[in-house]
Amino acid sequence: MIGRLFRFHGGIKPDAHKNESAGPAIQRAPLPRRLVVPLRQSPRATASCLVEVGQEVLKGERIGEPEGFLGTAVHAPTSGTVVDIARHPMAHPSGLDTECVVIEPDGEERWIEHAPFDYHTASREQALAWLRDCGIVGLGGATFPSHVKLGKGAGIETLILNGAECEPWITCDDRLMRERAADILAGATILRELIGARELVVGIEDNKPEAIAAMKEAAAASPHGVKVVAVPALYPAGGEKQLIRVLTGIEIPYGKLGGDYGVQCFNVGTAHAVYRAIAHGEPLISRIVTLTGNVDNAGNWEVLIGTPVQDLLPLARPRPDTDRTLLGGPMMGFALPRLDVPIVKGSNCLISASPRLFPPAPPEQPCIRCTECAKACPAELQPFELYWFGRSRNFGKAQEYHLFDCIECGCCSYVCPAHIPLVDYFRFAKSEIWAREREKAAADQARDRFEFRNFRQEREKAEKAAKLAAKAAETRAKLAEGVAEAPAAEAAAAEDPKKALIAAALARAKAQKAEVRPQNTDNLSPETQAEIAGIEARRKALEAAAPPAATATTPNADAPAAASDTAATAPGAEPRS
Ligand code: SF4
Ligand code: SF4
Repeated sequence: MIGRLFRFHGGIKPDAHKNESAGPAIQRAPLPRRLVVPLRQSPRATASCLVEVGQEVLKGERIGEPEGFLGTAVHAPTSGTVVDIARHPMAHPSGLDTECVVIEPDGEERWIEHAPFDYHTASREQALAWLRDCGIVGLGGATFPSHVKLGKGAGIETLILNGAECEPWITCDDRLMRERAADILAGATILRELIGARELVVGIEDNKPEAIAAMKEAAAASPHGVKVVAVPALYPAGGEKQLIRVLTGIEIPYGKLGGDYGVQCFNVGTAHAVYRAIAHGEPLISRIVTLTGNVDNAGNWEVLIGTPVQDLLPLARPRPDTDRTLLGGPMMGFALPRLDVPIVKGSNCLISASPRLFPPAPPEQPCIRCTECAKACPAELQPFELYWFGRSRNFGKAQEYHLFDCIECGCCSYVCPAHIPLVDYFRFAKSEIWAREREKAAADQARDRFEFRNFRQEREKAEKAAKLAAKAAETRAKLAEGVAEAPAAEAAAAEDPKKALIAAALARAKAQKAEVRPQNTDNLSPETQAEIAGIEARRKALEAAAPPAATATTPNADAPAAASDTAATAPGAEPRS
């Protein structure tokens, strides 16, 4: 039960810069000329393509089938024609590309048929499958699939709705809470039922008074008992573990998740998407994006997934001295290497940066071991130690010092008097470790394949030898019984099973040949048969007419002349004249 507030370790208080974009209401971004929809919406899973080039699609139509345990479906953000399916660069520091479906909108926004999903009459598994098929993922930036995060439906005591939004400049959740508080709470109530939580708490940073008021009003109207709590504005209060600590006092240790301690966290944007999916049957095809920084028209826009950044930026009217565009906040975001990348489900903010707003960092100095970084680290790490291990490429040691518990919040870099870009070193170290692990996994896979190939060849050889031995034994048995006619086979079988088989085959062929007798009386014409019958009749008549003695001595029944001769030379017969 939420009683008092707690404090997490470390944290900083950078300038919030929220007022620049928090004022105007959310606007709908216009349809771009083309939508580039990545089939990979999160780093963990991709979807298999369901459409082909030239196909007409409707708004909300499924274009990507979820793959694997962490997969979620991907949908067409508007109606139009699929004009390309190819790899396109992603909004990622590396500029890596991924498979995308390119849709040319027809401008009609024709929806696919969709209807509410009655999760009260459906089973829990069916409800989770519905969320997966609606493409619902965490909109706080991590894009973790919500159906997976909802777990087993038991063991969660408290559901926390994360409205902290602690990164400077970003106001998309703030605007969403101000304008759609009732829908967010309806979604949170659905999540609460599906996860089986007893209490629902909304945590909002105290620098968002309008959002707090709107959510409190909606909570008062809700029959489900929702608690809205203002938490101190301290970066990174929006981190999952930090918010859990602040609201419940529970310290989540290294390598553990909130779910292990009976607490689960969902972003307010995710709750809103869950409400749209259940109450209206709408898949997740858009999100709120803050456009701010060095611009004349900062604000928040509802943007279709797949909208290229370069089509979106003009809405905020960046000033001429803009030198780069950051995706995400200035603490955890990164400068986009190119602007033709699409908005994905995790893209919450675009900041136009200028040298005036974001002056270049002073040159890096040697570490003076002041430990300021350790004091600021919300994950209670020793950033200066990690820095040394990362710098000296001692990655094993960096892992020992819990490098992977670093949430890349950037607090350590922010406070470092030596201006060491610590978080960049940690990102580099992590990517090196991942690359090595990928290489190792590939090498292990290759070795496994090689070993399996050897094993398979050995097995096939053994099977072949066993078959030959069995055949040879059979042949020897046949030879022993006298079935095989070639004596050579027996001798051969004794010395070599292969030779025995050949000899046996030869013997069989010889036997078959012997069995085949020439037949010249098959298929005779009726005339020939009649002629043969006549001959037979004459022969039988002659045999019948011949004397028994002569018959007995007649060498050939078909030779009457010879029979006469024999009779003439018989004793008592008269000689011919
Ligand atoms: S804050 Fe900077 S200088 Fe101080 S210990 Fe950490 S890395 Fe070194
Ligand atoms: S970036 Fe990592 S090491 Fe630095 S303060 Fe944040 S969690 Fe700690």
